[in-house]
Amino acid sequence: MTKHASFGDMVNYSHTLSATMAEQKMKCIICGWIYDPAVGIPGKGVKPGAPFEELPADFRCPKCGAARKWFQPVT
Ligand SMILES: [Zn+2]
Repeated sequence: MTKHASFGDMVNYSHTLSATMAEQKMKCIICGWIYDPAVGIPGKGVKPGAPFEELPADFRCPKCGAARKWFQPVT
């Protein structure tokens, strides 16, 4: 009975894998600010090309101060 749902999950999984971490944009679900690895964060010491995963553990949204856990991948 769950065959169709499983297939859907696999498709989503494949899509996720196709996006390289270095290009993955991350969105703050609190305020909507988006981290774009291609841009980095000018003025915050985050250089262009740095994937979200490489940001400091204490990184916070420059706009609202939300912690990393509030960021979700932009699809
Ligand atoms: Zn924010």
